Amino acid sequence: MRCPVCKADNPQGPQCRRCKADLSLLFALEEQRQQTLAEARRCLRHGEWQAAVKHAETANWLRGDEESQQLVAVAHLLSRDFAGAWRCYQSWRATRRIGCIVLL
Ligand SMILES: [Zn+2]
Repeated sequence: MRCPVCKADNPQGPQCRRCKADLSLLFALEEQRQQTLAEARRCLRHGEWQAAVKHAETANWLRGDEESQQLVAVAHLLSRDFAGAWRCYQSWRATRRIGCIVLL
């Protein structure tokens, strides 16, 4: 977990190891996101495509990364929402493009 105050990486909470900021809410949010991702995967395993889309989008909204974007796209594909999957792909591409610009 990256501290929003001093930018230090913190593998454990609830306080930042450097500046002692209280990160407990951020750790709780990340835990909720992990549970939501797990629920999305469970729904995919059981063929519950619409529920998988809902959970994956919620996790992606909490904090979007490649893993959550992939889950959203796969859930859209399996629910035969090809336009939704295409939007995920475009969003992912835009994110990567911005990331490349930042790195340059
Ligand atoms: Zn800090």
